[in-house]
Amino acid sequence: MAELKDVKGIGPKSLALLNKININTIEDLVTHYPFRYEFLKRSDLSKAEDKEKVIIDGRIESVPILMRFKAGLNKMNFRLVTPSGVVGVSIFNRAFLKSHLTVGTGVTVIGKIDKQKNVITASDIKLETLSNKVKIEPVYHATSGLTNKNLSTYINMGLLMYGREIPDYIPKEYLERYKFSNKKTSLNLIHNPSTEEKLKEVTTRLKYEELFAFMFKINYLKVQNKKKNNGLKRDIDKDKLNKFIENIPFKLTNDQVKAVDEIVKDLEATHRMNRLLQGDVGSGKTIVSFIAMVANYISGYQSALMAPTEILATQHYNNLCKFLKKSKIKVELLTGSTPKKEKTRIYEQLKSGETSIVVGTHALIQDEVEYNNLGLVITDEQHRFGVHQRANLQNKGIKPDVLYMSATPIPRTYALTIFGDMDVSTIKEKPLGRQKIDTYVKKNSEIKDALQMMYEELQNKHQIYVIAPLIEESDNSDMTNVYKLKDQMKLAFKDKYKIDIVHGKMAGAAKDAIMNKFKDGKVDILISTTVIEVGVDVPNATTMVIFDADRFGLSTLHQLRGRVGRGEAKSKCILISDSDTERLKIMETVDDGFEISEEDFKLRGHGDLFGTKQSGDMAFKIANVRSDYKILLQAKKDSKEYLLNKDTDKDELKLKLINSITKG
Ligand code: ADP
Ligand code: MG
Repeated sequence: MAELKDVKGIGPKSLALLNKININTIEDLVTHYPFRYEFLKRSDLSKAEDKEKVIIDGRIESVPILMRFKAGLNKMNFRLVTPSGVVGVSIFNRAFLKSHLTVGTGVTVIGKIDKQKNVITASDIKLETLSNKVKIEPVYHATSGLTNKNLSTYINMGLLMYGREIPDYIPKEYLERYKFSNKKTSLNLIHNPSTEEKLKEVTTRLKYEELFAFMFKINYLKVQNKKKNNGLKRDIDKDKLNKFIENIPFKLTNDQVKAVDEIVKDLEATHRMNRLLQGDVGSGKTIVSFIAMVANYISGYQSALMAPTEILATQHYNNLCKFLKKSKIKVELLTGSTPKKEKTRIYEQLKSGETSIVVGTHALIQDEVEYNNLGLVITDEQHRFGVHQRANLQNKGIKPDVLYMSATPIPRTYALTIFGDMDVSTIKEKPLGRQKIDTYVKKNSEIKDALQMMYEELQNKHQIYVIAPLIEESDNSDMTNVYKLKDQMKLAFKDKYKIDIVHGKMAGAAKDAIMNKFKDGKVDILISTTVIEVGVDVPNATTMVIFDADRFGLSTLHQLRGRVGRGEAKSKCILISDSDTERLKIMETVDDGFEISEEDFKLRGHGDLFGTKQSGDMAFKIANVRSDYKILLQAKKDSKEYLLNKDTDKDELKLKLINSITKG
């Protein structure tokens, strides 16, 4: 296949610009879809208001008069005969058009009309009059140096030269079934729609194609995983495992028991485990993962538990050590800040098999890490890791089983797509004795109420989290920042209580030091950005105060709120905001993470659920899993049917789709 630089008109300079917006191949170029369209409707001049923007077809009646001014500026005037009478047209800085604007030429003029003078000051003149009533113009995401016009030109040239070679990911039988246009025609129309109807038609078709290919891959992975005996075969001594479980100081909830069962079955099965363990914050996923690692240990294999931050990894490590106190299982902590010498020792002991469980951050997936017989990989809050990182960890072992944990309950649509190749265990039930966290939405003018509530908690020797969206003062935002808050809190509570700050730009060690001080009760009020969002467990912290709460998605707020209510005492969450209170009030009544994520999803789309880091995984070019849910379901069904249809097993397309999975 030809390359991008082979498209006429694309030189080294434009090539670099195209690369900058991630257009690297001709296929990328011609599937760089408009993100919106401008619908230019013809105006009726007799009805147009003064200063209104008008679009009108007409024929040039007089030879344009060109005037030149200082600094290279120029202006052209001519008369135009239109269906609603003659009108004057003037346009600036288009002297270069003069030779084309001969008397009798048909043009379309776009501009503002001055009713008194009966003159249109044109912003644009199109040389061909367009036969249909509405002209639909594509608008592209551009970059500096690349205009909409440039993009349109390159795309159309790419289509003209190589349109036939662009692969179509819809199998023939489905093209026929739905009477879809072929790929080239569809691409031509999406970039140059002739009518609104046609546009709608090809948009649906291209969305279907994208979702078909995506769901085919998901279906393939799932079928493949179940079919292949590619997992570790092992027997788990249930008596040994139950002894462990009996030693846990609390009784597992039914959902926890069920999740453990499902995981143990997966570990024993010949296929590889690929399971998502999802449950609301505080539902007790961690203990389930610990039990899984013990089961894996009993069967003779090493486990790795990966967390997104050092704080979390350390917390897991400490809890795990407590949990395994009476056993001989050797556990290590490996993070970016583990001293070099220590690291070398850990590497060696992982390689020799002396260490059975390693807990850590991204450090676990560095190339230097070699395992003796890695049998189970667990990632906590897995939506923080991209697919590639996940893949990387999986390849470390022979064929380890994989368990992903997520505290962001995933709406059905998403579960179906990103996690469509996984089995899911869900913990819905909260551990016994968990109290509801009272949530209040307060205006800035009611700050005194918030401070009063905080004061009462502090007097009861409880600790408080205070969250702000920003770290420091910013010129282009008046959002609250952590440093300003610290001053305010100092003012409110004087020197009676210890206040400290933790934020994302601090070095890992400094962050951990403060977190540990908070854990040990040496800090009363911890002011923070959302770095404490995931997983941190401080039972004595009973109050969560969030400033500019409207800046966060409901799922994030729910995660933050989940930081309190971890001990015996009744806990509170105070959301401070002057705007968007309607949305925030959902938090006052709903405390189920699944319901909240559905609400969030309805209101904000998926952006907030997975953070920007993950967005690459979900980057559809034209489809949107939420608004195109129906097409998604159809594509899912069809692609599965196609996958399972043996008659098509030798299809070039099928092989190509499968190939792209193993590569990507
Ligand atoms: P998450 O699902 O957010 O990871 P954790 O595993 O951190 O939740 O659990 C929150 C707290 O609840 C921990 O302190 C944990 O020890 C405790 N916990 C977990 N399961 C139970 C249970 N069945 N009964 C009582 N407490 C539990
Ligand atoms: Mg957790």
